[in-house]
Amino acid sequence: MPGFEVIGKEELNEIIDIFDNGGILFRHGFDQLRNNSYKVLEFEKNFSEYFRSKKALAVSSGTAALRVALAALNLSERDEVITQSFTFVATVEAIIESRAKPVCTDIDDTLNMDPEDLKNRITKNTKAVIVVHMLGMPANLPAIKKICDENNLILIEDTAWGCGGSLQGVKLGTWGDIGTFSFDFAKTITTGEGGMLLFKDEKLFKKAAAWHDHGHENNPKVPRWEDTRSSSGFNYRMSELQGAVGISQLKKLSYIVEQQRKSRDLIFNKLKEIKNIQFRKSIEGSYDTADALIFTVDSREKAIDCRNKLVENSLATKILPEAYTWHFAGTWSHMQELVKSHNGSLAKEFKKSEEILSRCVSIPINIHMKDEVPEKVFNSINSILN
Ligand SMILES: *Cc1c(COP(=O)(O)O)cnc(C)c1O
Repeated sequence: MPGFEVIGKEELNEIIDIFDNGGILFRHGFDQLRNNSYKVLEFEKNFSEYFRSKKALAVSSGTAALRVALAALNLSERDEVITQSFTFVATVEAIIESRAKPVCTDIDDTLNMDPEDLKNRITKNTKAVIVVHMLGMPANLPAIKKICDENNLILIEDTAWGCGGSLQGVKLGTWGDIGTFSFDFAKTITTGEGGMLLFKDEKLFKKAAAWHDHGHENNPKVPRWEDTRSSSGFNYRMSELQGAVGISQLKKLSYIVEQQRKSRDLIFNKLKEIKNIQFRKSIEGSYDTADALIFTVDSREKAIDCRNKLVENSLATKILPEAYTWHFAGTWSHMQELVKSHNGSLAKEFKKSEEILSRCVSIPINIHMKDEVPEKVFNSINSILN
């Protein structure tokens, strides 16, 4: 599981450092009062270096990161943005907020965007694609990127769950034109609430940076109150407190992912002895973050039985099957905009996704796992399936 397991005195010391240097909690200005302490700026710099990306922009949440990414694209009401049916509601909400039409695709057996279905859903109004690396497993980026390039579409990676993973040696969040990240309290690294964007293109970065800050261009030639602007925007700024925590969480990212992968492998090595389960597929060259270990069983009923047995044995599942409705677009009839762009009904739109997801069981992975956990998970699942 996530960065909150290793939050501690390093994060606290970064915060104390702010207060030792004037206690300025705003990312901009107050230059005379802060003894050169700019935590958000430092977090952005370290993040872009770690990811070998040109530009990073910190924001107030992962949802904000998606919204800001779309704002950089100058979308109009005719434009369509395609994402996948298995994601968190935030991905579709950000598209709706940006006034574009949200469209979802089916998933493949990586449980991420199905490139074949992506082709089906592209129209002349499609402007961008948001691929999601759900629960830390890389999507089929080579195929998806190729389709985007061929159709002149901007590719955004919702890397809320893929932070620290890579595919074919390239970090998740840096394959697309823009990568977005979440640092909410359930994610791989956390700042309580927070998010980040990575950019390849300087122009997109500049547009996003201004838009997330009421249009402020942070023109170095003038003081902030006389700042230049080219469009309206909003406030999705990150505070110095979040930036401080982010600096020390980022230093722990490699360790977190390595430990999660070790914990996951210990559980996987037990569970693979069980017949009747199919593990989530990965594409070649995947280095997933091992946020969860997901497998499918024969039926929805069996999946729920597995969940109940795990809970009975003081264990848990993560997202699937219990939080299915928050993560599967086929159930989001409360989002009128999504229903409308799928011809008035979501019921039959994602049959393939529903067929797979309804039978999934997802085992949460901890950084610090108790020794008895793999055996206990095995016994719980085995008692239901055999
Ligand atoms: C967590 C998450 C978000 C939203 O991030 P917040 O920081 O909670 O706003 C967006 N997309 C996905 C796939 C997520 O898992």
